Amino acid sequence: MADTAKEPLRAVKGMNDILPPATASWQHLESTIRRLMDRYGYGEVRTPIVEPTALFVRGLGEVTDIVEKEMYAFEDSLNGDRLSLRPENTAGVVRAAIEHSLLHDGGKRLFYLGPMFRHERPQKGRSRQFHQFGAEALGFAGPDVDAEMILMLRALWRELGFVEDRDVRLELNSLGAPAERRAHREALVAYLEARRDALDDDSRRRLHTNPLRVLDSKNPDLQSLIEQAPRLIDHLGPASREHFDGLRAVLDAAGLPYRVNPRLVRGLDYYSLTVFEWVTDRLGAQGTVCGGGRYDGLFELLGGKPTPGVGFGMGMERVLLLMQEVGRAASMRPPSLYAILPSPASLPRALVAIEALRASGHSVLMNAGQGSMKAQFRRADGSGASHALIFGEDEMARGEVAVKALRDENEPQRSVPLDDLVAWAAAVLPR
Ligand code: ATP
Ligand code: MG
Repeated sequence: MADTAKEPLRAVKGMNDILPPATASWQHLESTIRRLMDRYGYGEVRTPIVEPTALFVRGLGEVTDIVEKEMYAFEDSLNGDRLSLRPENTAGVVRAAIEHSLLHDGGKRLFYLGPMFRHERPQKGRSRQFHQFGAEALGFAGPDVDAEMILMLRALWRELGFVEDRDVRLELNSLGAPAERRAHREALVAYLEARRDALDDDSRRRLHTNPLRVLDSKNPDLQSLIEQAPRLIDHLGPASREHFDGLRAVLDAAGLPYRVNPRLVRGLDYYSLTVFEWVTDRLGAQGTVCGGGRYDGLFELLGGKPTPGVGFGMGMERVLLLMQEVGRAASMRPPSLYAILPSPASLPRALVAIEALRASGHSVLMNAGQGSMKAQFRRADGSGASHALIFGEDEMARGEVAVKALRDENEPQRSVPLDDLVAWAAAVLPR
């Protein structure tokens, strides 16, 4: 199709540009995460954003919200391959672990940061391209790793300045083993069958395909029916119970408050045993900032050897909104110096001096030839720099530059020889 229109093109709906100064908060969050991952021994993986559609159909299950209606699935126009933009990254990480035999010498702790794609209605805290931080501990049966992972998330919240149990709260459940889920599923289907008329269309459709998902329904009319439904946690066998108790014992010992929520099921099919969510009341309907759990069946689903795994995915946009909400958003670091050029003739020598300053680690901002001296001073002031460097023609002729303090009125303006500028900066400016 020819594109003859003259209107400017816009980004795809629900896919947002992230621009300065907002990027400062992203970088702050990302570097906090990277330091945390280092302390807990997690290595970064970067898997492709595009994967075979079959990976998600197999990994997430055909009748999940994501695969049914949220996935950007398409045919490669050049060779007809069926591909999808990744809607989440656990399946991709496990695929990579199998493909590269990552677990040949034992368990692995991995993490990722990056964009995910889901075709949903954009709103606050929900977009079509969004970003997740996720971690996966592969090859460990737990419950100690499950506990370690949850404690690691508490450490992150603390570092971001969130107050435990006020800004974020932990909810916990156990989904048991497959046989226990089957027994519960039968009891649940019988219960829902008997109340078929009270269900909505979505739930009636899921009754036989994925009845557990009925419990996940957000329809307010169904809440009391869901409340009284048979609980999976009452169907747990001794081994599952022991796993759950083991996890709780660590959290209790670490003084980490949590709520056991028997209705917490998570949207994805591959979970078993531990499931958890970190939720907040401060972001309206988009209250889940992080969801995770154990997926001991996933490796086999994807063609690998049976291998336990536990992980989580965190919505970075939601964490950033929460940081804003609690007054902990980061701002851009101002430059140390702002260069003012009264005349273009000074430019070549000024730039050489500025480059020397930058090479020795100082940040210098310059908008050469942008407006009157007054306008340049206004901009220098607004930049947050501590000093302005004025590369005036007279000073330059003497091999000097005028230095004016922008934050300290008592500091007199002075001239500094161009050759001494780097030494002056080292003595005066914080690095
Ligand atoms: P929700 O119930 O909010 O749709 P989900 O159960 O679909 O969440 P997961 O698949 O568990 O979410 O993804 C992990 C995290 O990623 C969520 O807890 C949330 O913080 C974030 N997330 C999921 N979908 C989006 C989205 N469309 N936009 C922004 N963040 C999202
Ligand atoms: Mg969702």
